Amino acid sequence: MPSAIGQLFAVRTVPVLVPLPTEQPYSYLVPDGMEVVPGSIVQVPLGPRQVAGIVWDAAEGGDSVDPKKLRAITHVFDCPPIDAAMRRFIDWVADYTLSPPGLVARMALRAPVAFDPEPWIEGFASTGSLPERMTGARERVMAVAAEAPAWSRSGLAHAAGVSVSVVEGLVKLGAFAPVRLPPPPAVAEPDLHFGRADLNEEQAEAAQTLVQAVAAESFAVTLLEGVTGSGKTEVYFEAVAKALEMGKQVLILLPEIALTQSFIDRFHQRFGAPPAEWHSDVSPRMREKVWRQVAEGRVKVVAGARSSLFLPFQNLGLVVVDEEHDPAYKQEERTFYHARDMAVVRASIGGFPAILASATPSIESRVNASSQRYGHVQLAARFRDAALPTLTLVDMRRHPPARGKFISPVLLTAINETVQRGEQALLFLNRRGYAPLTLCRSCGHRFQCPDCSAWLVDHRLRGQLQCHHCGFNRPRPDSCPECGTLDHLVACGPGVERIAEEMLAAFPDARTILLSSDLAGGPRRLRRELDAIAGGEADIIIGTQLVAKGHHFPLMTLVGAVDADLGLSNGDPRAAERTFQLLHQVTGRAGRSGRASRGLIQTYQPEHPVMQAIASGASERFYDREIGERERAGLPPFGRLASIIISAATRKEAEDHGRALRRAAGEDGEIEVLGPAEAPLAVLRGRYRFRLLCQGGRRAPLQAFLRAMIAAAPPPRGSVQVQVDIDPQSF
Ligand code: ADP
Ligand code: ZN
Repeated sequence: MPSAIGQLFAVRTVPVLVPLPTEQPYSYLVPDGMEVVPGSIVQVPLGPRQVAGIVWDAAEGGDSVDPKKLRAITHVFDCPPIDAAMRRFIDWVADYTLSPPGLVARMALRAPVAFDPEPWIEGFASTGSLPERMTGARERVMAVAAEAPAWSRSGLAHAAGVSVSVVEGLVKLGAFAPVRLPPPPAVAEPDLHFGRADLNEEQAEAAQTLVQAVAAESFAVTLLEGVTGSGKTEVYFEAVAKALEMGKQVLILLPEIALTQSFIDRFHQRFGAPPAEWHSDVSPRMREKVWRQVAEGRVKVVAGARSSLFLPFQNLGLVVVDEEHDPAYKQEERTFYHARDMAVVRASIGGFPAILASATPSIESRVNASSQRYGHVQLAARFRDAALPTLTLVDMRRHPPARGKFISPVLLTAINETVQRGEQALLFLNRRGYAPLTLCRSCGHRFQCPDCSAWLVDHRLRGQLQCHHCGFNRPRPDSCPECGTLDHLVACGPGVERIAEEMLAAFPDARTILLSSDLAGGPRRLRRELDAIAGGEADIIIGTQLVAKGHHFPLMTLVGAVDADLGLSNGDPRAAERTFQLLHQVTGRAGRSGRASRGLIQTYQPEHPVMQAIASGASERFYDREIGERERAGLPPFGRLASIIISAATRKEAEDHGRALRRAAGEDGEIEVLGPAEAPLAVLRGRYRFRLLCQGGRRAPLQAFLRAMIAAAPPPRGSVQVQVDIDPQSF
């Protein structure tokens, strides 16, 4: 029954998706005279608060809520609406990941202040009214404000070195009156012809294929596979140029902020202007600007982390996923999603091509390429015939390092020769800190995180023991907290700091640089270090996976993998793939400018198929074997997996709820439920964790099965939380 008001005034209501964990958009009234369309960004009352939300598409059958009970939209932001493809994408991601659509929408609304240009600017001369009481801070604001006709609140506060509240106080006192900010200057436009490289024949052919895909303006995925240094970036830049020529926007996903700067530089050299950046290290102010200009279609190219998938592009025509195999593309908090897979979905919804680039593609992409769901473009040679490094396995059982040391004599000799020649050596160990475990020689006490089932890692340069899972840390003690014995604590195993120490002792005259994300001191410092390496200001570089990827170091001719077995032992079915990718990437840092180069891989299992594949360069054989094994085991991409993590303050609550979920699981001949069993990290941040694994065939209706199971189980009570991870990366 339509209400009386509804009959009289034909009240208009629209669904609005608010950025909260809600399953449905809520209905709101549209006040007379207000213009909204699906995608409009609006402000709505929600309980006592005002929140930003997106006007959503009307559901089938319309709204049955009594309009008298509805509240009205309070404001429409002056900003282009979120386009239909993006709205469908948000719904799709929510549906696929079993995440509330509101939470996914929140990722699209990450820069809330950007919706409106800050509605207030100031020329204090113009109002001429000064507050009665002046303070030092106020005086600074007034003085700084005179330097420009218009300021944003935060900009003025920042320039005057005061808090925003000082500026706000002055606004209230009438010293500043709201005026509209002039639009920020247009971003520099990329110039398609600026620094175009002469592609060699193989590159030109590959580029041609990608350019055609862009020109076709339809959905297609191409795997661009090329050995390290083959020029993949130059090649996909041609596709980017084509998209720009057609007036489209382009999104380039990068797995790591550490890689962004050198990428930005290369982009700048090619296109005469930098792309917009989008990642956690971009300032809030800059984010606002980028968000808004992407929405307005003024930013043409964004290079960013996985979250840039949720930027409000108006006219996206190409998405590139660089280093598509990289595990960093998986987000494992709140909404669990894989940015590579979602990029493909975004392209499919938007009807434009996606390019996945890698020297060591994921098994998933390889399978998709060989089944011809994806196009496959390969670059077999390094640019300018730079030779790939010769790779040798160092059998650590036959060439053991000195006692308490980790570098074998073979590798030490190679480092020495390299440094003597004025070239660079990279020692790679994927472990931060000094040592992964500290124990007391007197009583055997091991230092463990109080909140996680994990050892504390010795970070000697900071004088701390740290948990790598929750961030807990404590000063490194001199005596054992258990038995009180002084100076009997020993470090077990190596981390990069310890390898650096070993190098300083072995090569006191060499210039040694240690690179690790916890030491990098922010992107700027890291950038300087990377520039210093590229500029030949270091002889020996010790680094974590931070240095394994993407960088171009012309003088580097030796790469040593200190503990190549490190990732193999964790029992994860992806361990072989990951280790292969990492070793391939890191050895690929050597010999990129044509000098003869080598990689030495320290291993205790030289007969392991991964080690054999790396050493012999038989990538094809490795992929065939790995793909065969996945197929036999029904593992992705030949089967589907979901992991459900049940966590709680007590072990019992977590396990009980895990059992309840398991009991609630219906019968589906095709889907098998395993567990609950203790999760790989059984305690994290003081919460006990159990895991259910659901495994099904390639077309198994996993999401529907999980939804039914969760709905049939009693709702989580007390401290219990349930997190669903579709396509878990480690399982
Ligand atoms: P990949 O991404 O495949 O490892 P890059 O795109 O980083 O390879 O290229 C490796 C190096 O070779 C870079 O310094 C790049 O600038 C250079 N390069 C590749 N192709 C060309 C080309 N056609 N002209 C000039 N330089 C090139
Ligand atoms: Zn911890």
